[in-house]
Amino acid sequence: MAKHTITLIPGDGIGPEITTAMRRVVEAAGVDIEWQAVDAGEGVMDAYGTPLPEHVIDAIRETRIAIKGPITTPVGTGFRSVNVALRKALDLYVNLRPAFSIAGTGARYDGVDIVIVRENTEDLYAGVEFQEGAPETAELIDWVREHGAGSIRPDSGISLKPISITGSSRIVRWAFEYALANGRSKVTAVHKANILKYSDGLFLKVAREIAEEYAGRMEFEDRIVDMTCMGLVLRPEDFDVMVLPNLYGDIVSDLVAGLVGGLGIAPGANIGEEYAVFEPVHGSAPKYTGKDVANPTAEILSAVLMLRHIGEREPADRILAAVKAVLAEGTAVTYDIKRTNTGSTSGSVGTQAYADAIIGKL
Ligand code: NAP
Repeated sequence: MAKHTITLIPGDGIGPEITTAMRRVVEAAGVDIEWQAVDAGEGVMDAYGTPLPEHVIDAIRETRIAIKGPITTPVGTGFRSVNVALRKALDLYVNLRPAFSIAGTGARYDGVDIVIVRENTEDLYAGVEFQEGAPETAELIDWVREHGAGSIRPDSGISLKPISITGSSRIVRWAFEYALANGRSKVTAVHKANILKYSDGLFLKVAREIAEEYAGRMEFEDRIVDMTCMGLVLRPEDFDVMVLPNLYGDIVSDLVAGLVGGLGIAPGANIGEEYAVFEPVHGSAPKYTGKDVANPTAEILSAVLMLRHIGEREPADRILAAVKAVLAEGTAVTYDIKRTNTGSTSGSVGTQAYADAIIGKL
């Protein structure tokens, strides 16, 4: 019997190509995995009437660990993001997005080593929205006025921003525990509590209380999100582990991915108490579907996170070293890396040839 059983969701768009590359690299590194592949995304819409069939969620409940390719959010079908739905269904409340400099990516900065811990279940992504013109929206607008809570223009659409003590405390605690377990030196909580007193203000209050519990063991600071963005661009070395509510976490993690060379190399993980789903930060890049050009590094580095999570640290380190070696050489790299380094995609290799180069360095 294989040592690990892992659910594999290839996804759609460039997902199948980059997950194939990832799987080949992980297998070449000698990790004993039985992959249980299940499909989600655009390709299953006709058969199941949903891009996220229940059996996909059940498969993850059984294996507890999954790795996925990106999945397109169908436009105009009434479906919200499959990825958001998956995170909700499995209560994957942590979105872990490490960003670290790798030589050869052509990134504008060196020596960046930042870990984003993004809350994954609430905030403006809770999906509590009121459409402009709908009767319930008018009712809500009336209610707000009648209760002296402010005036909202009648032609408004409204999205609610719930932030709870429960959601904030578990994500902040997770960030501190992660920082301690991984030898990090500081946790920065990011917010806009000066304006959003009852949502971000609550997040900050909870963060400060939890930081007290770790006083003497882990440095803590808080920063306002707009100043944080400027600070990241000016002095990324000031940041270590960052913990953020959902929306800021989404935006700031793309910013940080940009500091280290772009979406093609930014890995991620969605983690809860019981389950974990690993996936790149980027989406399904539909225009590159089936062209064997997409960069699988983010997917491969997501597998590195997954292998560490399941206790396979040695092959994880070996894969990371092989990725670094291929990027440092700069010859067998995909179009995006070539473009950043030389201003042209000429001489780049395809997705699978890049994976072959990594396998050759294992
Ligand atoms: P995207 O798929 O991330 O692609 C945006 C651009 O980023 C691409 O055109 C490409 O830029 C670059 N890029 C992304 N991945 C790359 C890779 N592996 N290698 C090289 N370059 C890469 O963003 P999008 O077009 O906004 O989203 C497409 C779909 O994906 C949407 O339906 C969205 O909802 C979904 N999505 C899914 C997830 C997920 O599954 N977790 C996450 C985000 C978005 P250049 O063309 O400049 O090279």
